[in-house]
Amino acid sequence: MTQLINVDLHCHSVLSDGTLTPEALAQRARTNGVELWALTDHDELGGQDRAITAARAAGLPYLTGVEVSVTFAGVTVHIVGLGMDHTNPALLAGLQATRGGREQRAREMSDGLARVGIPGVYEGALKFVGNPDLISRSHFARYLVEMGVCKDISEVFRKYITEGKPGFVPHRWASLGDAVGWITGAGGVAVIAHPGRYKFTATEEYALFTEFKAHGGQGVEVMTGAHGQADYAKYAGFCQEFDLLASRGSDFHSPEESHTDLGSLPYLPGSVTPVWELLQPRILQ
Ligand code: AMP
Ligand code: MN
Ligand code: MN
Ligand code: MN
Repeated sequence: MTQLINVDLHCHSVLSDGTLTPEALAQRARTNGVELWALTDHDELGGQDRAITAARAAGLPYLTGVEVSVTFAGVTVHIVGLGMDHTNPALLAGLQATRGGREQRAREMSDGLARVGIPGVYEGALKFVGNPDLISRSHFARYLVEMGVCKDISEVFRKYITEGKPGFVPHRWASLGDAVGWITGAGGVAVIAHPGRYKFTATEEYALFTEFKAHGGQGVEVMTGAHGQADYAKYAGFCQEFDLLASRGSDFHSPEESHTDLGSLPYLPGSVTPVWELLQPRILQ
């Protein structure tokens, strides 16, 4: 059964907000028994060639990947792309445009934190940034923990950098249709990332899944580090209701910060069709 493979199709490197290099992630995936891997940096394909090379050297089958930031109904939603041509010009241009607002947003986040008596956070966060194009809230969180302002990353998000908090700056990312279009236009499969994390009403969530399908989206993460047992069952049910393929990915960012390691999730339930069945021809060996 293709469910019973240790597949991990969601993680982050220093090219976005992870703390390991693509090479170190490939090694860690291999060590943890991963049998099919994808690196899915936020809005960025700059790590793909390194991941492909490292996976090949480790004898680890690989799918290209990305996690695109989208604004849907005023909420940030993440769409994972798998198996795309990572040199596709329209995809690259779309991601570059999506990254474009991050610098200004980071400066405004820093201004907000300065107003509540925490100065210099932009400059401080920069030393955690591996890719100057991709300063993220995770880098802010690491700096505030290092400064001793908070005891851990989740406390920073809770107190300072989520909606309504002083370091939060609303941001308009890509549209759902654009993100799905860039991925499918580059020959890939679009997947709704960690749906259990979004604070949608049932009506809004139904609209997300319906519109995602209408744009040509084909998959949803059922097993992810952000889901519990109830989410596994709920989104396995959504696979049947919306005729979607199921994905599995840890969303691993860092050995120190992530609760779910590469390759450590339960297998997909037997009721769903794995997205990697469709992606078979796109696997790089
Ligand atoms: P950004 O793209 O800059 O808005 O940052 C989003 C990233 O922050 C996500 O991809 C996660 O890695 C991280 N993140 C979001 N919420 C939390 C949270 N509550 N605790 C820890 N990390 C979080
Ligand atoms: Mn992240
Ligand atoms: Mn995400
Ligand atoms: Mn992610």
